[in-house]
Amino acid sequence: MLCNIEKTKHSFIKTYDDNGDLLHVKIANMVNFNEQETHFFIRALRVKKIVDNSQEYKQKLLHTKMTQKRGRTNLEVYNHWRSGFSNYDSMVDNDLDYFVTLYPGKKGTLGYTSMSSGKIYINRQYYKYWMNNGDEGISGLIGNLNHEYMHSMGYIHRGFWSYKRNSVPYVYGREARYLALEHLQGRALTPLLGV
Ligand SMILES: [Zn+2]
Repeated sequence: MLCNIEKTKHSFIKTYDDNGDLLHVKIANMVNFNEQETHFFIRALRVKKIVDNSQEYKQKLLHTKMTQKRGRTNLEVYNHWRSGFSNYDSMVDNDLDYFVTLYPGKKGTLGYTSMSSGKIYINRQYYKYWMNNGDEGISGLIGNLNHEYMHSMGYIHRGFWSYKRNSVPYVYGREARYLALEHLQGRALTPLLGV
């Protein structure tokens, strides 16, 4: 596990990578994170990688009914996600590059994604809550990251909750959160490769 943190005035610029052929999750840029907050993020990313690269997550994403798929099938959405290709990262390199900023927000919104830059903003109030809530907190952050990443890939959610809750960002976020929690509580997940 490589983890190089270079501290700049208000941000951590990091390269974070694992060897292997699986989907990589990289922090391209973190802004406004202190050291403790950074460590929590890295802890969550380790679990996120296991979930992202599991058979269980794949099966859920291929077989859960989803809305607002931009005309794609579940498999096409899944392959799109795994390619790492977005408007902001035009490399099909199996890298998910995260640009994350903590901001001081009011209760009500966990965060948002800038559709123009692909940057993810997380409300610090919720982030603190996750940090203080053990396994559920780690899973909450992972769910949020997967939800927001699908926004950065151009997937949105509109309409009534019953329709919106099955949109791509909600399904990717929710299923990641459930599996992360189960994994943290002892369930082994099957890696995609070597099966
Ligand atoms: Zn959303």
